[in-house]
Amino acid sequence: MADLTFRYAALTDTGLRRSNNQDSGYASDRLLVIADGMGGAAAGDLASSETLAEIRALDTELDTDALTALRQAVNRANQRLGRLIDEDPAVEGMGTTLEAMVWDGDKLAVAHIGDSRAYRLRDGRLTQISTDHTFVQSLVEEGKITADEARTHPHRSLLLKAILGRDDLEPDFSWLQPALGDRYLLCSDGLTDMVAPEEIERSMMLENVDVAAADLVRKALEGGGYDNVTVVVAEFVAADDAIDPDLSCANDQPQLVGAAAEQPRPRTGLAGPPTTAAPVVDPEELRYAPVEPGRRRWIGWLLGTIVILGLLGGAGAYAYDWSQKQFYVAESDGNVAIFRGVDASVPGLTLTEVDEVTDITLDSLPAYQRERVRDGITANSRADAERIVANLDSQVTTPTPTPTPTSTATPSASATPTADTP
Ligand code: CA
Repeated sequence: MADLTFRYAALTDTGLRRSNNQDSGYASDRLLVIADGMGGAAAGDLASSETLAEIRALDTELDTDALTALRQAVNRANQRLGRLIDEDPAVEGMGTTLEAMVWDGDKLAVAHIGDSRAYRLRDGRLTQISTDHTFVQSLVEEGKITADEARTHPHRSLLLKAILGRDDLEPDFSWLQPALGDRYLLCSDGLTDMVAPEEIERSMMLENVDVAAADLVRKALEGGGYDNVTVVVAEFVAADDAIDPDLSCANDQPQLVGAAAEQPRPRTGLAGPPTTAAPVVDPEELRYAPVEPGRRRWIGWLLGTIVILGLLGGAGAYAYDWSQKQFYVAESDGNVAIFRGVDASVPGLTLTEVDEVTDITLDSLPAYQRERVRDGITANSRADAERIVANLDSQVTTPTPTPTPTSTATPSASATPTADTP
């Protein structure tokens, strides 16, 4: 096989709704990186740029294999965030996603944590090669929702893993074997939330990495630009191919974009006093709720989010408020019921409670609606939940007789509606 190298382009945009860019991106002839910072305006940019600083140290001759070096760099980045948080309580809760690829001249060492993504375009087909560490991805894997539904799910941005400066760091590491003509995309969720996969595929097939990167960012902005959007695009070519002098990477210089390319901001105090006005809930702030350390204790991600946010003061008020405004319609012992809370199944923990059990039995519903109720129907509000129930009520078919217990059967515990609380 011919020796390979790659052309690269890194591009970012703050987007149309945010005042600062918390993403960082980097591309060079050895290294491709995206980090999407979290922790609110106070620290997200710090988390992503500090992490990128550690990963960038790999842009040199390595004295160990690329995957080992990458593991060590990710650990150092984690420790660095931990130290910054220890030194300055104002940045407590900050963290970052990371998607990083290190080229060793033959293959790519890959690190992935969070919901920034890696895609490969090969033979005209785009494939996502990273798996999101998100709550909705876990629902997809359990077969509760489809990948399409995940894209628009109200809780799609809640992360289960990130680099948070804590002991429970669990990134995915792997090797990738690129082939001649492969193109790779690393991107933040500001792209994937705004642009459908088939549109990403189309952009990735454009004439070169610069045009593809620019087209992706343009589509994210046209799609709403709700979030910072960062893309790093690479195309594998034969090592002895002459480079097009018009390409941005033709000067052989690394490309550094986003928070890491900006002037470091002073940290302490930027969080400001807790706001007393009822804030508009920003889904990014909630996403940026740190995840409770796992430490094999199986504390629920949501509970952790609320507890830690509670410790953070101002943010806790609306995190709690938020959790109490979540409703969904699901089954309670054979009947349709309205639940308050979030429909998350965490072993040994119940994160929701029944708000009202209706007298609509599941058996009286058409099969399709029955299935929807079994899966749980997300409501935007209590009123919305009532509307869903009214809609179900209007579809009640002739009640089917409930199965009669055999004479030897003992009364079933499930005859009593229960509202489990932790
Ligand atoms: Ca983001």
